[in-house]
Amino acid sequence: MIEFKRYHETATFHSPLENFNKVTIDLEIREDPLTGARSIINTYLGKKWSLYPDTDYNYLDEIGEKSKERCFLCDDNIEKLTPSYPEDIIKGGRLKFKDAILFPNLFPLTKFHAVVRITSEHYKKIGEITSSMIFNGLKLSIDFLKATFQYDNRYKYPTINANHMFPAGASAPHPHFQPVNFYIPSTYHQLLLDKARQYYEKNGSCYFVDLISIEKKLKERFIWEIGESVWLSAYSPMGRNEIHVIWQNKKDLSELDEQDLKDLSLGLERLFSYFHHKKISTYNFSLFGGPFYEKPDYFRCIMKIVNRQNVVRDHRTDDYFLQKLLNSELSELTPEELAKEIKKFFK
Ligand SMILES: [Zn+2]
Repeated sequence: MIEFKRYHETATFHSPLENFNKVTIDLEIREDPLTGARSIINTYLGKKWSLYPDTDYNYLDEIGEKSKERCFLCDDNIEKLTPSYPEDIIKGGRLKFKDAILFPNLFPLTKFHAVVRITSEHYKKIGEITSSMIFNGLKLSIDFLKATFQYDNRYKYPTINANHMFPAGASAPHPHFQPVNFYIPSTYHQLLLDKARQYYEKNGSCYFVDLISIEKKLKERFIWEIGESVWLSAYSPMGRNEIHVIWQNKKDLSELDEQDLKDLSLGLERLFSYFHHKKISTYNFSLFGGPFYEKPDYFRCIMKIVNRQNVVRDHRTDDYFLQKLLNSELSELTPEELAKEIKKFFK
């Protein structure tokens, strides 16, 4: 069944940070119970030197102000500078809900790759992004993904994704999401599907349902529960401060209803407040499901949220050889400490 594998070791040297006294640093290697993806926990890092300097808020304000005039997501420009879909794909060319607007990505990754502006307000700090902005963006994303499947039902691998601020890959600071529908899934989506199917064939149960039940008993990484969604810190993170949202009974994205999206939006608003409290200014998220409209018993919808390097002048990227080529992650905080801290923001 589910095994939480971890290995310990130590590194010893005379440290200039400790007057050249001998220091012994504890390291922990963890493995994700589903994919086997490894991560390294080094809490000495967080105590002595941070990989992630606090956000430079003066610089962030400067970026917000400077980018306003040329922003293609602001009301003055959006109709003039963004593309629209042919009528047979999206009636009217763009989808609109309140002040959220969806249009095609000018530089697509697949046949169906859209951008959703989630609010008309140009610049929002992470803690100012509200649940209603998030809901409006998610609603349009799901409407779009369903429309793409109706147009071409070979496209069964939808995800909803986001980059917030440039160290996270966003080209505009204006808050936006990116729904994407592939007919050949991404490498990681394929891995999740394959591993979850193998687990189901071997154990006769769904990995995600089993995980929820274990995590709720252990209470080490469990953060919150609302409606059908359960919020956890990742046992073996693939990004900074990785949080998982898993739906007990929703197997693919077509099953997420308005209430699920409202619950998700409320939880994200609270999570973003925690990030802001920690002087964090960036995030990425991806929401995955089983093959669209297939409702596979072996899968459950899951969102993964991570932070990236903060907005600071001359920032150092957070991805180096460890992440890009060795495909592992480093964390300066244990997932258990992270869950404990975040819980305070979900009361
Ligand atoms: Zn804007």
